[in-house]
Amino acid sequence: MNEARVECQIFKCLLITHSERLIFIILTSLFGIFVLANSTRAADIGEAEKAFRVGRYDEATRLSTEEVRNGSWIERWHLLKIRSEMAQGLYPSALSSLEDGLRRLPGSIALLLLAREVYHFNGRGAEADAVLETIQSRIQASPSPYATPEGRVQVGRFYLARGIDARRVLDLCYDVAVKQRPDLIEANYAIAELALEKQDPALAASTLAKAPQAAMEDPYYHYLLARAFVDDDRTRSEKEVDEALKINPRHTESLLLRVAHRIDQERYADAGELLKQVFAINQQEPRAWAFQAVLAHLKSHPEGELAARKNGLSRWPENPEVDHIIGRELSSKYRFAEGSEYQKKSLELDPTYGPAQVQLCQDLLRLGREEEGWKLADSIFEADGYNVLAYNLTNLRDAISGFRTLRQDGFLVRMDPREADLYGPRVLALLTRARKTLSEKYGVTLPGPVIVEIFPRKKEFAVRTFGLPGAEGFLGVCFGNVITANSPASQGENPSNWEAVLWHEFCHAVTLNKSKNKMPRWLSEGISVYEEKQENPAWDSPMTPRYRSMLLGEDFKPLSQLSSAFLAPKSGMHLQFAYFESALAIEFLVAKAGLPTLRGILDDLGSAFTINESLPGRLGMTLDQLDAEFTTFARKKAEGMAPGMTWDEPDLPPTADSKAIEAWLEAHPKSFPGLRKLAVKLVAEADWPRAKTVIEKLRAAAPEYLGEDNADWLLATVCRKTSDAVGERSALEALADREGSAGPVFTRLIELDQASNDWKRLDRDARRMLAINPLIPGPHRALARAAEQLGQDAEALTAYKALAILDESDPADTHYRLARMLAKLGHPVEARREVLKSLEEAPRFLEAHKLLLELIGSDPPRTPTLRPEVKP
Ligand SMILES: [Zn+2]
Repeated sequence: MNEARVECQIFKCLLITHSERLIFIILTSLFGIFVLANSTRAADIGEAEKAFRVGRYDEATRLSTEEVRNGSWIERWHLLKIRSEMAQGLYPSALSSLEDGLRRLPGSIALLLLAREVYHFNGRGAEADAVLETIQSRIQASPSPYATPEGRVQVGRFYLARGIDARRVLDLCYDVAVKQRPDLIEANYAIAELALEKQDPALAASTLAKAPQAAMEDPYYHYLLARAFVDDDRTRSEKEVDEALKINPRHTESLLLRVAHRIDQERYADAGELLKQVFAINQQEPRAWAFQAVLAHLKSHPEGELAARKNGLSRWPENPEVDHIIGRELSSKYRFAEGSEYQKKSLELDPTYGPAQVQLCQDLLRLGREEEGWKLADSIFEADGYNVLAYNLTNLRDAISGFRTLRQDGFLVRMDPREADLYGPRVLALLTRARKTLSEKYGVTLPGPVIVEIFPRKKEFAVRTFGLPGAEGFLGVCFGNVITANSPASQGENPSNWEAVLWHEFCHAVTLNKSKNKMPRWLSEGISVYEEKQENPAWDSPMTPRYRSMLLGEDFKPLSQLSSAFLAPKSGMHLQFAYFESALAIEFLVAKAGLPTLRGILDDLGSAFTINESLPGRLGMTLDQLDAEFTTFARKKAEGMAPGMTWDEPDLPPTADSKAIEAWLEAHPKSFPGLRKLAVKLVAEADWPRAKTVIEKLRAAAPEYLGEDNADWLLATVCRKTSDAVGERSALEALADREGSAGPVFTRLIELDQASNDWKRLDRDARRMLAINPLIPGPHRALARAAEQLGQDAEALTAYKALAILDESDPADTHYRLARMLAKLGHPVEARREVLKSLEEAPRFLEAHKLLLELIGSDPPRTPTLRPEVKP
């Protein structure tokens, strides 16, 4: 993320008016600290501000009202009075406080900055708009007070409101203010707010980390930190909200952030309770009404949604934030179409509203409306060079413009051109098969083309998918009709099976379409993982000892609470377990009630039922009964792994030899980890007969175990060492049938197939390896040979063409074989080109010379030229 930010910090040509320039010049030339006219009675105001900070808004209002009534000229009292009244929704009072304040302190920029909001909430939009001009003239008339650190922060906020380049504001106002007064909390806040608005959470977090100690006592500090961590570290974000609410349980911003978290977690009732707390503070809080509208939408309650939106806009009808929040939250629930409509409404109210522009841009790209999306990204970046998201997106667009587009059967696939040459047709074939199988199975006709983008670089995948680089651990993401995936090139030495990934993602496209994007995440992921196994058992996520203990322990979630497993996982392992358990839940539902019931549940969701409303009706039992039956089903599965074995780990040093492990096993004869450790040690000690015996025991104890040092892999090693080719093959085949991502297994099988000239098996194993890594020459070479031997000339030609791109070990041979295949299939011109390439690599390659002669000899006789000879 840092990288993007640094790249983004381009100095942008600044277009400012003459008067603004003048202010900058004055600001940068003034020295010394200006003593504010507002010398304050710190003790009193400090106490009153503390009351505000901890949420005693009425007390803060009372204290400040008394001071103001007594004729105070102190700016902080006036500000506090207005802020306390605004916090409680006392908008008319806030307006008269403002007018009162401005009469006494007409030059106060802080009051004027606050005035915009106060005017808006009192239906006085024209005055709100005029405020910026007033500030401009105040600063121009008397610029010197604003050279103080406090003044620079205020001027910075003013310039941002005027749409001046954020980078320049940061450099000339905020950074200088922090340098002059590192203990100025406001300056830290201003930088953090700016960074968050520009999608630069790393800068926000690092700035807040340097804030003075006193900030810890301020709920707003923790709230800003919570926002900075909201995407990358949700646990930390929640912790900061806790801190904020500990200081001030009535801190509206923090309560609303928690509402957003709860909506994310599908804990809608909890979100509703939190909103009640906000309404108790301010019945007219527009953001709270926006969230209320979201809850109504998610409950398919359009009247409620409409009414909540109307309430949100009642005080300030042009407030663009209300629609923006509704749309943003709906998009986070994959309702991109509805979300984008709300962003459009927001932009109708204020066409310059940045958050709505950015969200709409992402929505459009996720909806596959790319032309509009990219255009918007360009215009955002043009207007705001510091917007990290827009910057990343415009860079991404440039990268994608170099991709090749493949079209077939309702798919539009974009790939790096070299990758498209190597496995583009395989991607299309896989997707076409997925479409046929899954669309028929779930009774879905997908509208429009499905866009699939495969990225060779993780960073591009992350920007396309999440808007920002980072987000490790995702292989693919589906937004409905747009699928993004990481190519094997971005996954290091042992990539995952890309066919399984695309199958999984396409299944999301089908189920999201069927349910009109109204699925809880567990159901969506559960079906996709389940369907991987249905298509190919080797794509299954197998039971592991860890999953076994989680299913039997406290990490197991009843079916009716599976959402929480997904949406608030304690760790990466818990998230993986959520996928596993969700797939198990689908297996249970299909076993219990059949596929038509599952289809019916998706239809219910599409027509506005929640999952926990649909399940009892479709299965004819209460949620409690369902939970109980699923628990029994899952526990039985777990107990079925290595029954009778124990899971105690040997407490032995890594150097312990087989004798020591055997001695330990005498006291723990049923320990599966002990038995596995012994097998591994015996293999390391090359004690083949004993190793074989223990491996057989291991396999008998837990035949489904496919993790590290599984029985089949160990047995294959022993057989290889003892030259038992039949035994080795049989062990590897057993593993290959159950583990579709096991690259080393397929590589070895290919070697064995080639050694035994077993062309059918070679053909099968080469294809299985290409489903893992089509970017290395081995499987293409194997497939080419096998296909040639099996008379599948077209397949051989494709494989030789791919090999010609990749093969650096024997290019002469590859080009020669490709030439031979081209000649055989009637492409003499291309064949000649390839044979010449072969001879370029190896000028004395006899077979190539022979082929060249044949190709020349077979040339059709040349037509004599009719053109008369022209003499010079
Ligand atoms: Zn998924």
